[in-house]
Amino acid sequence: MFIKDTDQIYRVPQWSGLTWLTHGFGTRLADVPSLSGELATLKQIHSAECLFAAGRTGQLGQGDALLENSPGAAVAVKTADCLPILLVDEDHRAIAAVHAGWRGTVAGIVRRAADAMREGFGTEPTHLQAALGPAIGECCYEVGPEVSCHFGKQGRAHVSLARANRRQLLECGVSPDRIYEAGLCTMCMPEEFHSYRRDKESAGRLFSFIGIREG
Ligand SMILES: [Zn+2]
Repeated sequence: MFIKDTDQIYRVPQWSGLTWLTHGFGTRLADVPSLSGELATLKQIHSAECLFAAGRTGQLGQGDALLENSPGAAVAVKTADCLPILLVDEDHRAIAAVHAGWRGTVAGIVRRAADAMREGFGTEPTHLQAALGPAIGECCYEVGPEVSCHFGKQGRAHVSLARANRRQLLECGVSPDRIYEAGLCTMCMPEEFHSYRRDKESAGRLFSFIGIREG
C-alpha cells in the first residue's frame, strides 16, 4: 500500500528511510515537473529499449526505461493506464523508471531494465527493489485474443499488467518481499488518475519519477 502525501503524490513507505532517494507516482492533481526539478524522459514507444540517462535531462530519445546513477539526477515515465515501475538498487545507489504497457510487458521491458542495471551498475537482482505504480487493473483491462494470448489466456479476457511484470521480476531473481504494489486502478479512480481507455484522446499523462539526491 502506497501513501499519498499533500503534494498528491503516492510514495512507497519502504523507501521513506532512503535519504539519498527521491521518488513518487503522481496523481492527476500533482505538479510533478515543478516539484521534482529537471527530469530526464523518453519518447515512449512500447518497446524493451533501455537508455542510460547519465546525468542528462530533457527527452533523451526513444525507449521505455531510463536508468541512472548520477547524484542530482532524476528520471521519469509518463503513463495513462500503462504500468509505471520504479527500480532501486540501494547497494550502488542506482535507479530506473520503466514504462510497461502490454507490448512492453510482452517484450520484457522490466527484465531488460534489471539486466541493464546489472550490466551498467553491477546491480545484484536479489537486492533490487521494485515499486509497481497505479495502472489499469485486471478489473477494467479486458483485451482481445491478440493480446490475451500473450498473458496465458484465450479469447476476450481480463489481464493484469502488474501480475505479468511481477512475474518477470521474480524470474530475474528479485525477492517477492522487495516488490511493492500500489494496487490502484487508473480507470476505476477518475478523481486521481488519467486513463487512456476511459478518457480516450483527451487523457492526460501521470508522471512517475525517481531520482538521486545530491551529496
Ligand atoms: Zn478498474
